Amino acid sequence: MIKKTDQAIIHGFLEDSSNLTGAHADGIYLPENPVEGKEAVKEIGQNKSSLTIVGGATGTTGGCLPFGGWLLSTQKLNRIITLDDKQMFAVVEPGVTLNDIEAALKPLGLFYPPDPTEKTATIGGNVATNASGSRGYRFGATRNWVRRLKVVLTSGEVLDIPRGLKINTKALHSSSLIPIPHYQMPKTKNAAGYFAKQDMDLIDLFIGAEGTLGIVTEIEIALLPIMKETFDLVSFFASEGQAVAFVFAAKREKDKTINFFEYFDANTLQMLKNNYPHIPNNAQAAVYVEQEITAANKNNYLDFWAQLLEQSQASLDNCWLGIAPNQRIELEKFRHAIPEHINELFKQNHLVKMATDLAVPADKFREMFNFYNSQLTTNQLFYIKFGHIGENHLHVNLLPKTKEQKQQADDLIMRFVKKAVSLNGTVSAEHGIGKIKHQYLKELYGASGIKEMIEVKKHFDPTFFLNRNNIFPSSAFRPAQAD
Ligand SMILES: Cc1cc2nc3c(=O)[nH]c(=O)nc-3n(C[C@H](O)[C@H](O)[C@H](O)COP(=O)(O)OP(=O)(O)OC[C@H]3O[C@@H](n4cnc5c(N)ncnc54)[C@H](O)[C@@H]3O)c2cc1C
Repeated sequence: MIKKTDQAIIHGFLEDSSNLTGAHADGIYLPENPVEGKEAVKEIGQNKSSLTIVGGATGTTGGCLPFGGWLLSTQKLNRIITLDDKQMFAVVEPGVTLNDIEAALKPLGLFYPPDPTEKTATIGGNVATNASGSRGYRFGATRNWVRRLKVVLTSGEVLDIPRGLKINTKALHSSSLIPIPHYQMPKTKNAAGYFAKQDMDLIDLFIGAEGTLGIVTEIEIALLPIMKETFDLVSFFASEGQAVAFVFAAKREKDKTINFFEYFDANTLQMLKNNYPHIPNNAQAAVYVEQEITAANKNNYLDFWAQLLEQSQASLDNCWLGIAPNQRIELEKFRHAIPEHINELFKQNHLVKMATDLAVPADKFREMFNFYNSQLTTNQLFYIKFGHIGENHLHVNLLPKTKEQKQQADDLIMRFVKKAVSLNGTVSAEHGIGKIKHQYLKELYGASGIKEMIEVKKHFDPTFFLNRNNIFPSSAFRPAQAD
């Protein structure tokens, strides 16, 4: 098995998109097959060290960053084991990237629907964070598309878990029951803490567990026939209210061919203006929509959007249209440029990423949106507000310039978190809690909810060996210090 202790090599694995600094590790394992993964777990366990799993290191919450102990990279667990175009599923190892999956599926006329934006992310990382992309509006998060998982537990035992296998089914890994937490999860898209529901499928506990319960070594995903034709539209609005009204009017149509609605505020557009000078000067907001073109809507989709735009005092004439493939590719690049630019801004300013990942129920979105604006306009902090408005989920990124502003930004994010929780929303809709959002999770589920999660953790990992500090701080694990 490949095992390295050269710090120059390890250094290359100590950064993700959170900008969290100070990560360090004694060494790194790069297993080339699941058996080697299991051996690594055994070896590290025997040495009483700890283990952090790293996939593509594109996470935004520091989940893959070690603060001591050993790293296990899934980089070489990168085989596509099965591609079944008849039954439309694939079996892959966790280190396969979304780019690789897309490239393998395209010639077969298939695609993997969740499509989180960053294609260098691995499928293992997506499962661990229950990632969802813009197309989550139509297709939901990773969870919806995972049909089976193989997981190596810290005991060395390997679980093969098909969807449908209920939690606490007899003949599972141990005779004691998994203590399912009692909290109510938000009824929004959600990646905050352990999935918990009485009579749940066991697989759901591992999806979104941020690698704290086991190492995912094999994943079966469901696929769909590729969309033959899509239409992309970026529409610009003179006010944010008009943009939001446009999205809500379009959503009311309940058109099942719409893949996503993405929102960009004036600062997002300003940030991109150097690279995209044809962004209209007076635009205060933009909405990016993607729709599948089918035999049923082929002749009227442009009229459909023209009408909706007119109702919101906008016009198709001022929009960017993606009809031809090259136009769509350009628009896709435009969308991807947004998180990339933002991450770069944080990096340049040596700041740990300060961004919300809050989603609220649809009927509470306007209240949340107005709350963002009322709070953001009363201080001097630079902010960028963008994201998955179709799922009532925006990212507010704050870029403080001074120590005082940093404190203001922390306070402001906490206010947003509390507001979202009061509206029955989630504190993390897609990025997970990682190492930087523990206190938000506590707002959602309280100290008692965190305690219940720790009981689940203890069940699978009694020595707190795996992915320490993800989801809850390791200090919370010690009974003496528990709340
Ligand atoms: C430009 C950009 C755009 C992004 N857009 C989106 C988006 O639209 N939607 C979205 O959800 N996210 C988005 N992200 C965040 C990121 O891509 C996702 O969180 C992704 O799921 C992380 O995958 P990864 O392979 O990079 O995982 P890593 O960052 O390496 O790890 C993430 C977590 O998964 C754990 N993990 C990794 N592999 C395994 C495994 N095999 N078993 C158990 N645990 C494991 C790690 O320990 C860590 O806790 C974006 C990031 C960037 C940089």
